[in-house]
Formats: sequence, C-alpha cells, structure tokens
Amino acid sequence: MTTQQKAADSSGLDLDVTVRNLGSYTTAVLPPDLAHISHRLGGYNIVNNSEYPFIPEMVARCVKRLSLLWHRGEPQAPAAAVSGSTEAAMLAGMSLLHRWKQRGLPHRPNLIAGRGAHVCWKRFCAYWDVELRTVSGVGGQVVADPARMAEACDEGTIGVVATLGYSEHGLFDDVASLSRALRRSGRHAPVHVDAAGGGFTAPFLTPELNWDFRLDHVASISASGHKFGQTALGLGWILWRSEESSPEHLWRGADYIGDGKPDIGLTFSRSAAPVAQQEHLLSRPGAFERYRIDLADCSSVAADIADVISGDPGVRVINDGTTLPVVAFCDREPGTVERWANRMRHENWIIPTYPLEANPGLGQCARIVVKPGLSPHTCDRLLASVLRATYNGIRQ
Ligand SMILES: *Cc1c(COP(=O)(O)O)cnc(C)c1O
Repeated sequence: MTTQQKAADSSGLDLDVTVRNLGSYTTAVLPPDLAHISHRLGGYNIVNNSEYPFIPEMVARCVKRLSLLWHRGEPQAPAAAVSGSTEAAMLAGMSLLHRWKQRGLPHRPNLIAGRGAHVCWKRFCAYWDVELRTVSGVGGQVVADPARMAEACDEGTIGVVATLGYSEHGLFDDVASLSRALRRSGRHAPVHVDAAGGGFTAPFLTPELNWDFRLDHVASISASGHKFGQTALGLGWILWRSEESSPEHLWRGADYIGDGKPDIGLTFSRSAAPVAQQEHLLSRPGAFERYRIDLADCSSVAADIADVISGDPGVRVINDGTTLPVVAFCDREPGTVERWANRMRHENWIIPTYPLEANPGLGQCARIVVKPGLSPHTCDRLLASVLRATYNGIRQ
C-alpha cells in the first residue's frame, strides 16, 4: 500500500494533501499494482524503443483499446502517447494548422473553441500565432452553442475544438450538434475533441452519447491518461482519424536512438511507467467493466454531493456529475461560495472558487472532482463535511 493510500484509508485530519484537494483532476492515489509498475518501470525511457521493444508494443496495445472505445475505424492510423492533454492539444493544433496551410490560403489562421476552453488552447494560439475565436452559449448556457461555432468559421479556420469536460465545470460540448451545424453551414472545418476528462468517462458512463470518430467531422481526439484514465502523472493520448489528418512531414524519428521510426511530440525523454499502467488498466480481465464500475461509483458520490448542495435555495448546481463525476455550482450572492469553501477548508478539504470564464454572470462557482480511488470511508467523511458546510449558515 502506498503512503498516499494509507493516508486515504485512515480517518481524521491526516489525509494526504493530494487527496484533500478536490479541485484537481489528476490521479492522487496509486493503488498497489500501479505503484509497483511505477517502481519497476520508472527508469525506462519511452524513447528507447529499440532497446525496449515492449514499450512501443504497449503503446500500440493502448492505442488499439482506445480506438475501440472511441470508435476509430482505422486502428493503424496515427496516434501518440504524450506527456498530457496539453502536449496532445499542441500536436492536434499543429496538424490542423499544417493541413490548413497546405491549402495555400492568404488568410490569418483562426481556431474556434468554446469560452472556457482549457488554457492549453490559448497557449497553442499564442505560440503559433493563430487567432483564437471563442464562442459562448445561448441563454446563459455554459457550453458553446454549436450553431454559433459553425457561424464563426471562415476560410481562415483551421479547425473547431469541442471540449468533453470543460475543466471549470465538467460539462460537455454537444459534438453531434456541432457536426450537424457544420454540415448545414457547408463548412468542412475539421473538429478536434479535447476529451481530457471525458475520453475516459463517456465511453463508460454514457456509451450512447455520440461524440467521437462516429462523427465524420471529428479529425482527432485527445485525452489525459493521468485524469480519469487513472494512471500516474505524465500521460496523454492523441489519436487521429486517418493518415491524412496528421501531415506526414510532422512525423520525425531519430536514428541514433530508438529505431528511427517516425514519431511526433514536443518532448523527448519521459518515463514509460504511465504507459505501462495504462496498458495494465485497459487490458486486465474485465477492463472496461472495471472502469465503468469505478466511474459509476464516482458519479453516484457526485450525485449525492450535488443533492445536498442543491438543498440550499440560492445555489445553482450546473453539474451533478452525470457525465464527468464533477459537481459544479454557482451562487450570485457575493461571499457565499467562498464561505462554503472556507468551511470545507476548516475540515481540511481544498476546493477552488472562481467566476466561470464561460459565463461570469452566474457569480462565484466551485467544483468538486470525485476521482476513482477514494475509500468509502473518505467519501462518507466528505459527504458529512458537505452537509455541515451547506446547512450551517453560509448565508449571513
Ligand atoms: C486537464 C485538461 C487539459 C490539460 O491536460 P493535462 O493532461 O493536464 O495537460 C486540457 N483540456 C481539458 C479540457 C482539461 O480538463
């Protein structure tokens, strides 16, 4: 048992700070099998693929499983294991940009994304001098309006980013409607789905939701292994629909290391351990069912938390944890959400509060991410704290 898990399983105030931090999406508790993998494979460099041929094989097996989960018809099409969704976003964005450049249009390139899209897209646009056009929701919605996204496209548009799990509230863009809106408008802008969180929850919690390669417009999908993929920190995935979605000249190998096979990435040396953990998690017996059960547990804890919080008449719960196991709520009365978070802080839970970028008019918001690996006892304590914080007079 790892130190963190010991802490998570004991009672009182000695929970590891990573467990008490309820705002974070990344894996905090490594169960013994994964900790063992970290220990054994931590020193293997992912780029040394001719010395350790099992590494590219593990990557390939993960990609095959992800292709199955995300309905990719061509499991051999380009894909890469990278350091996280941020690096995946850079590579997806670069592929979109270079594909667009091949058309030789005289415009300044632009990228469409929902307001509140992750900061990695602001970085991509700043680093590669692309105009970021953000699109808001209609009628106070906190996810982007698909019709407005299609309207924002023009000849300079390199692509549209749909977010599956905005980090600030956890809700999903409607990718199927976006695809329809793009078709109706006659715009053939490719879509990248930033499924940092949702890539590892939607296939299990809402398998009927159509957001992935089943939709023609979706050219690439990225996700974080180290969020709901449940690996240790340092893993992201990017899968492209086909050879054409990622220009060949972006793929380079190094002959003096590995076997010179074409590869893509902004980083080089990294630990192979998170990939080995991902392969273990995706290939163990009943793997998908185990993900489904873990996530359904998280969702049900999130639903209980949302239920308690919504008992306060002034609070507006905007996510009750059905799609991503995240509870997000807002309150327009100044100071209320901060008081609530402070009460939680007194019981040692760390919860971020912020105005939503997608809709600051909703007032101050807070989010609780319910991650796999919390012991039932920790969940009970959490729920008890939420009850006390909500009903012990957060209004003055
Ligand atoms: C967390 C997150 C990212 C960045 O992911 P990292 O793996 O931390 O780089 C990008 N997009 C969304 C929607 C996220 O939630």
